[in-house]
Amino acid sequence: MNGQVYLGLGSNMGDKEENLAQAIYQIEQTGKIIVTRKSSLYITSPWGKTDQDEFLNQVIEIETEFTPLELLDVLQKIEIKLGRLRNEKWGPRVIDLDILLFGEETIALHELVIPHPHLYARLFVLIPLQEIAPQLVFPDGKGIGEVLARAAQLEDASQSIRKTENK
Ligand code: ATP
Ligand code: CA
Ligand code: CA
Repeated sequence: MNGQVYLGLGSNMGDKEENLAQAIYQIEQTGKIIVTRKSSLYITSPWGKTDQDEFLNQVIEIETEFTPLELLDVLQKIEIKLGRLRNEKWGPRVIDLDILLFGEETIALHELVIPHPHLYARLFVLIPLQEIAPQLVFPDGKGIGEVLARAAQLEDASQSIRKTENK
């Protein structure tokens, strides 16, 4: 497969840092996913549904033998294992695991859209993505710098994204 796979992790309930660490542990425990890079942790204001606690977000780069649909299934099982109960769109969650990019693949199925449908508009994902993949080129040929600059122009100015010292 050409190109790397990137996952977006988010938590805004309980011990958020521990939830992200547990998610990475569970991802590695599958035995078919190797985590090759991890971004810093970012404290971000909620997106879409703003009346909830702030999020802790992280992006990781992985190598995997799973197909995109297998990976989605594995990630959804990990979300449930870590205690994700409510599936309210954009609502509070213990853990959210999104597939951002899967190499150069573009997928438009009902249950799986890649690149992730809101990736181009979300600074809280694009900033950590650029941190670990500054040379990244999207399937449409655009570089991460260009995508990020465009998102920054569109982004709601009230959105706050703070990098923490932790990894
Ligand atoms: P958003 O997708 O805007 O980040 P969300 O993460 O809150 O919102 P969820 O409730 O976690 O949304 O997921 C809803 C559905 O999105 C999932 O059941 C899954 O089938 C679908 N989905 C589509 N594309 C993706 C993707 N690239 N990664 C993860 N889930 C996806
Ligand atoms: Ca999400
Ligand atoms: Ca999700």
